[in-house]
Amino acid sequence: MSEREELVLAYRILAAHGVVDAYGHVSLRTAKNPNRYLLARAMAPELVTADDILEFDLDSNPVKDLKAALYLERYIHGEIFKRRPDINAVVHNHSPSVIPFGVTTAPLRPLFNTGAFIGEGVPTFEIRDFQESGDLIIKTPALGAALASTLGARPAALMRGHGAVVVGESLMLAVVRSVYLELSARLQMQAMLIAGPGGNVVYLNEREVAATNARQVSAGTWKRTWDLWCAKAQAQIEMEQKAKRRRRRM
Ligand code: MN
Repeated sequence: MSEREELVLAYRILAAHGVVDAYGHVSLRTAKNPNRYLLARAMAPELVTADDILEFDLDSNPVKDLKAALYLERYIHGEIFKRRPDINAVVHNHSPSVIPFGVTTAPLRPLFNTGAFIGEGVPTFEIRDFQESGDLIIKTPALGAALASTLGARPAALMRGHGAVVVGESLMLAVVRSVYLELSARLQMQAMLIAGPGGNVVYLNEREVAATNARQVSAGTWKRTWDLWCAKAQAQIEMEQKAKRRRRRM
């Protein structure tokens, strides 16, 4: 499978899990050149096909396809790739359940097995710290750099009143983390509600976080999940292609 085809699957998987809706995007650093990354042109994630994937330099300028409409927030990707040589994939989303944690002082905490990476810390990016006025969109390289500095070495950061950014050493890791960040936020809200004000929620401790993260990376825990999600996305794409061919014949 080509990098473009793999990235299309990532778009479809994120949409299928409600992590992205008509907005949000995912990028992949190219294997042949670490100073380039792939990202779709400006469009809804669920409609992305391999033909819609463009190549960018790390300043987030398209390498060709100079006339294509581009995501305003593409700087999120380029600026993180510049500062994180360990990272090869970046997701930006408006994942609904994480939004409340970005606008309150309640921190996201590691609550269950598949959300253990949250224990590495999920800081919140406050755009007001970096601009006098304006909207919440990361529309300049400087704002992208500021977000990347808030993210630091962590796997994810919340964006106050906006959404989140999630990164991974692989495309699989960035997508899996995005899906489980959304689920973990929802479960944490439910646990906090059940516990009530002052009630106790038991979170993973540091040793559990470290042991779980180590196992999940080394034992290939996510492969079963990833293969399942890719197979479903692939089946959906093939159905669409078949329908398109049928319409053309009519
Ligand atoms: Mn956004």
